[in-house]
Amino acid sequence: MGREEKEQIIILKTYPVGENHRGVKLLTPGNGVLSALVYGGNGKNSSKKGAVIPFCYGWGELVHDRARGRYQLKEFAVESSFSPIREELRKTYIASLWAEMLMGSYGGGHHGPELFLLFLEGLHYLAEGEGETEDFRIMIRFLWDYLALSGERPDPSRCSRCGRPTGDGLFRDQRGHIFCSSCAHSGMGRLPLGIVPYLNRADDTNWEEFLKIGMALQTMDQLKRWLFAVIQDHMGYRLKTLKSGSFLL
Ligand SMILES: [Zn+2]
Repeated sequence: MGREEKEQIIILKTYPVGENHRGVKLLTPGNGVLSALVYGGNGKNSSKKGAVIPFCYGWGELVHDRARGRYQLKEFAVESSFSPIREELRKTYIASLWAEMLMGSYGGGHHGPELFLLFLEGLHYLAEGEGETEDFRIMIRFLWDYLALSGERPDPSRCSRCGRPTGDGLFRDQRGHIFCSSCAHSGMGRLPLGIVPYLNRADDTNWEEFLKIGMALQTMDQLKRWLFAVIQDHMGYRLKTLKSGSFLL
């Protein structure tokens, strides 16, 4: 017999299991990323078919079958479906990137509740985001907060080699490591100094205020690419979303 638990859930990914069932990866505040099965979830008449889809948030009834070591998602009551995220390709890719990071890294641990809240907030703003610039600001905010939660956030104001301030020149290598102008060598990319104060604002503003802060498109583009490099270095492999969603780059 399994034990039933009512939990907040965000659906990360679904996949068919056999002919009729649906497998699902989901994020919970208490248990991080879990795999669960929706019995009959892929059947023609399944009531859950339209609800158990990526990026829906709601309350789920999870049954833990300890003997078989798996979960069953019995009920799912949607609170927010964030439909614009599935309707606009750019938003879909951004949310897929976040989900891939969560599934590929720790996803649980003791950062569970904070991580859940960050993902939920990110989805909320992404669903409402108006236009490409705002969507990318939302993505940057999520990535920067995520790096802090995972303890992997680099400090762009200091050289990773000599520790000196990068105030007169900020460089990065392929892996996203930061160098000052004395330690930098050819082949490294130069980052605009403006990214340092911009990112600092993320720690002392809420999302709404942060999303209003303007930044030159080119600067945002370089910041984006640097964050992708940092995240992939942290994960240890190239993220699928970044390979397929080339327009994110
Ligand atoms: Zn240095």
